[in-house]
Amino acid sequence: MTFEDFKLNRQLLNAIEEAGYEKPSPIQEKAIPLLLAGHDVIGVAQTGTGKTAAFMLPLLMKLKYAQGNEPRALILAPTRELVMQIYEHFEMLSKYTDLRAVALYGGSGSIKRQLEQVREGMDLIIATPGRLLDIYQRNELNLRKIKTMIMDEADRILDMGFQPQINRLLEIISSKKRQNALFSATMPEKVVKLTEDFLEFPEEINISPVAVTAETVEQRYYEVPNFRTKINLLEHLLEDKESFHKVIVFTRTKEVANNVYKFLTRKVDESVRVIHSNKDQNARSNAFDDFKKENIRILVATDVAARGLDVSDVSHVINFEVPKQYDDYVHRIGRTGRAEKEGIAITFANVLDVHHLRKIEKLIGKKIPQERIPTVVDITQTPFEENQKLLRALDFIRQREDPNYKGAFHHKKRYQDPKNKDKKKNRSSSNRKPKKKR
Ligand code: ADP
Ligand code: MG
Repeated sequence: MTFEDFKLNRQLLNAIEEAGYEKPSPIQEKAIPLLLAGHDVIGVAQTGTGKTAAFMLPLLMKLKYAQGNEPRALILAPTRELVMQIYEHFEMLSKYTDLRAVALYGGSGSIKRQLEQVREGMDLIIATPGRLLDIYQRNELNLRKIKTMIMDEADRILDMGFQPQINRLLEIISSKKRQNALFSATMPEKVVKLTEDFLEFPEEINISPVAVTAETVEQRYYEVPNFRTKINLLEHLLEDKESFHKVIVFTRTKEVANNVYKFLTRKVDESVRVIHSNKDQNARSNAFDDFKKENIRILVATDVAARGLDVSDVSHVINFEVPKQYDDYVHRIGRTGRAEKEGIAITFANVLDVHHLRKIEKLIGKKIPQERIPTVVDITQTPFEENQKLLRALDFIRQREDPNYKGAFHHKKRYQDPKNKDKKKNRSSSNRKPKKKR
């Protein structure tokens, strides 16, 4: 298959040739004809496989030439960096057309300059949801001519708390005969659910059924029985300041993030910050900037807070706990090993984490090698409460996966604290009651 087969116009074909694209990538092969035919599309394909051109080319085809001053198409992206990247694609592929786009984003983007550009008129807007609404609310933009809306990294947009802004935007832009498309490397089912309101019989394209992790990231894991031992191992690893020079430590919850952060500042290194959803946007971006500029060595983060942040050259990603959503494993470790650089992703796994890790291995289609805890690291006994919690959670998951599973506190013998033997026996037997049949 060639780009000529799509019946794109000469101007686009010339730009494609100049860009050095010889043939369409798999996502382009599937998405371009569907988008040209006017379908709504959900396109999923791994990072770096040309999703941008997959939506940009049909869009440029549809917009054809400069017309009026109101935007006729909108591309949303979660971060400033992505908006800029998409804008560059626009410039490259629209080179031989007279189409006009403006890029709207917050952060360093001067709103004054962006407003001037908006006043000059455009065919296409590429924007983060927040900045777009901001400018709209200043009565500087008419969004009623929008006939195409594309969300790039759609799962991140819908995950980053943009939901109210998206709903507001959907109310504003005309819904009549609008074509919508979502693209991303991962698209969890629950995100697809969120889109049901605005996608109409979408065609789903899925090029990578399994999420793929970069080859440049070396992955490994330690089996670590409990929180305390995880802390000990973390302390030990971080002693090697030279190789662990730019480290993100991921946790599932903000409580654990705070605990790890406190421990690190006290015992290991002053050069550490924490970001999670309870910190305000400013504190988060300051911490993140400090980390990016290597003013600090270690960043402790939850998945939610770290999503969409783009940083290169991370030496190590440490998963203090496996993420709640398996996709996030891919996102987490994608922060190291970028741009051809080598990176290392280390996971600390207790029994529960190990269970999830096996699932993650299936998702990424790879076995993650195990490493032994160095003998100098103190392996402490798991406190009774913590152990109970782990086993209970594990049982819960096993039961959910297999309704016939009856082994409540399966590991009872091995882990049992003798002091609490009787108490626990009673509790577990009541737990083991078979589920009521409906
Ligand atoms: P994604 O959004 O899927 O992560 P991008 O759209 O950013 O990927 O594309 C990754 C790189 O591949 C870009 O540099 C882009 O110019 C290039 N590219 C896109 N399509 C093709 C193609 N058909 N042939 C060669 N290179 C391509
Ligand atoms: Mg992309």
